[in-house]
Amino acid sequence: HVYVLRLGHRPQRDRRVTTHVALVARAFGARGIYIANVIDKNVKQSVDKVIKRWGGSYFEVIDGVNPFEIIKQYKKEKSCIVHLTMYGLPIDKAITNIIEECEKILVIVGAEKVERVFYELADYNIAIGNQPHSEVSALALFLDRLWQGREMNLCFPDAKYYIVPSAKDKMVKRVER
Ligand code: SAM
Repeated sequence: HVYVLRLGHRPQRDRRVTTHVALVARAFGARGIYIANVIDKNVKQSVDKVIKRWGGSYFEVIDGVNPFEIIKQYKKEKSCIVHLTMYGLPIDKAITNIIEECEKILVIVGAEKVERVFYELADYNIAIGNQPHSEVSALALFLDRLWQGREMNLCFPDAKYYIVPSAKDKMVKRVER
């Protein structure tokens, strides 16, 4: 059971990236995403469009949340708070512990600068390599290490369409019900 907490979303600048963070979360097995402090209908709409076609209606986009309230809630439930940051400890060193210890995980990703307090609130500050890259790639790689590749076979029973993998063509089929 994994949720993502997106910090620092700026509606004009980050709309595409935040949408991509949400799509990665959905595609690779998270249950939802919280967007801290701001409300952005556009992100929700884009994700909902994908869900309508490709399934995953359980996936929630919850915007305008107070990040400290969410963290408090997760701490109360004894879930793990994992903050992804290039300054953290290497994923390969920490992932076994995380897999063994954490039943529920809140994965925090930032936009520009993440306030110091989140480093302190996190149970794990984890780096996906110690170079700056992107919250989209950091989240994808974290989830991949967490599920050890099983997320590739995730299937959405409520999908309207599915893809038939093909070497050259785009094969999309409608689910018969
Ligand atoms: N200097 C920033 C920092 O504190 O990591 C980089 C900001 S980066 C544009 C936005 C977000 O991407 C970060 O808050 C972090 O969640 C994620 N990120 C970027 N590079 C990362 C890395 N090497 N490991 C883990 N997360 C990373």
